[in-house]
Amino acid sequence: MPGELSNQQLAGIASEFGTPVYIYHAEKIAEQYSKLMHAFSAFDARIFYAAKSLSNVNVLRYICSLGACLDCVSVNEVKLGLLAGFAKENILYTPNCVDFNEILEAKELGVNINIDNISILEQFGNRFGNSYPVCIRLNPHIMAGGNFKISTGHVDSKFGISIHQIRHIERIVRTTRLNVVGLHMHTGSEIKDINVFLMGLEVMFDMAEHFPNLRYIDLGSGFKVPYQPGEAETDVNLLGEKVAEAFARHETETGRKLQVWFEPGKYLVSQAGYFVVKANVIKQTPATVFVGVNSGFNHLIRPMMYDAYHHIENISNPNGTGRIYTVVGNICETDTFAWDRTISEVREGDLLLFRNAGAYGFEMSSNFNSRLKPAEVLVQNGQARLIRKADVFEDLLRNQLL
Ligand SMILES: *Cc1c(COP(=O)(O)O)cnc(C)c1O
Repeated sequence: MPGELSNQQLAGIASEFGTPVYIYHAEKIAEQYSKLMHAFSAFDARIFYAAKSLSNVNVLRYICSLGACLDCVSVNEVKLGLLAGFAKENILYTPNCVDFNEILEAKELGVNINIDNISILEQFGNRFGNSYPVCIRLNPHIMAGGNFKISTGHVDSKFGISIHQIRHIERIVRTTRLNVVGLHMHTGSEIKDINVFLMGLEVMFDMAEHFPNLRYIDLGSGFKVPYQPGEAETDVNLLGEKVAEAFARHETETGRKLQVWFEPGKYLVSQAGYFVVKANVIKQTPATVFVGVNSGFNHLIRPMMYDAYHHIENISNPNGTGRIYTVVGNICETDTFAWDRTISEVREGDLLLFRNAGAYGFEMSSNFNSRLKPAEVLVQNGQARLIRKADVFEDLLRNQLL
């Protein structure tokens, strides 16, 4: 068990590479991957890592070396995946609202294509008939997930083709002779209740009857990891047991053996990631004690965007007296990482550690306020390696025409 990176290791990396800095622990990713493989060992499972959670090519390459496949939501992610060494058969491209030309580009690259819109299904069928297999993303109309912004399966969602449009799908498949080899659902993120997957699976089984060439059912992701101390994570072992039972039953009833695909992002990389910042100032106002750090929502947007909790520790003074702080960034609008949080006494210059920063951390960063994106470091076999340099001023000007 790789455990966690120690405060000393993290502080050492912060002093070597500067702050703010994202630090990823390779062995922790491997640990999460083997937890899934173990939980899903009773059936033919494939893990497609969701590239959009953390797409540094070095991380992709590492995840590829574990034996995982890759789920991509843009053709650029597909290209990053190919560059990182994923075989095209092991890449699934799941776009939403893209131009048909982007889908053509992905087809040229030879990856698995997941179609989530009737109009695209029709265009693809008219163009390619049964010459290129496809997967169809269905909307099973199940409300799930930790936050409305990350729920994708409900009736108002833009994702997938409604299961109520199955007759229309069938008509297109029949007339264009489309070869449908996969059915896909992804109902949201941070789903603790495994019944969401099991209910979705039953819907997928019903739909599967309409597609004789089916090879796999993709149950997407949304596996929850603990962000707050003591919080539960999705019980993947129990999920694995139930999914195994359901597929065994389905196989007996239909005589068909299907692969089961999953697309975890957060589950694989969230806890492997640490974000280390420096306390620039302590600011006492009549109501609050603020810690102002050398970062902001331009580097880690989850607290502002999703009201997400990230555990914060003062690694420069871990045994100090606990005091209540509001931790804020330096962006010129409300930019709060944590409200009324007890942290061991913070002094100007101390290093603060944000946990669970691997997923949707660096990946959602921007140059808002003309601030520079931070560096990324990968720790593997105890060695820290810079895998992305921090921005420099020239990066802000790179595409500007003077
Ligand atoms: C975002 C996304 C995922 C990954 O979700 P996590 O909650 O990070 O596991 C998987 N599949 C699709 C289609 C996605 O859009």
